[in-house]
Amino acid sequence: MLTATPLTGHNSLPAMDDQERLCRMARDVARKAYAPYSRFRVGAALLCEDGSIVTGANVENRSYGLTICAERSAISAAVSTGKRRFVALAVAGIDAHYPLPPCGACRQVISEFLPADAAVYFCCAGSPAVTSTVGELIPFDSLTELADSAPHVPERP
Ligand SMILES: [Zn+2]
Repeated sequence: MLTATPLTGHNSLPAMDDQERLCRMARDVARKAYAPYSRFRVGAALLCEDGSIVTGANVENRSYGLTICAERSAISAAVSTGKRRFVALAVAGIDAHYPLPPCGACRQVISEFLPADAAVYFCCAGSPAVTSTVGELIPFDSLTELADSAPHVPERP
């Protein structure tokens, strides 16, 4: 169930100020999107377990299928700096008139790196953010066990 306020009963949900900060950063980075084809700019802000925040924007391509969504940009950027543990994600479509949820492909990638009870916020330019969790966005994720059983790769110090 999606709500406009933080859900209760999820221990890993960040405080409301984290939601506001993440949504603001997602909106800010959306201005850097490369979206000449759709003109639909999206940003994402990823709260890492260490408290840092990594952002990403959508990067389109004239071969449309190669477009990279903001959520995957942020996760790729974070992993590229050695971060692998995340606690929340905000997605903001600043050209949307409704809170913008992640697409199906991004939900799969999000579930690789964020636990099922991690908060995911959908934002747009105006409306209040919608709060959900990874488990709500991708329920019955039987591949979770596969990710959990992946060979351990040491994190960078
Ligand atoms: Zn996506």
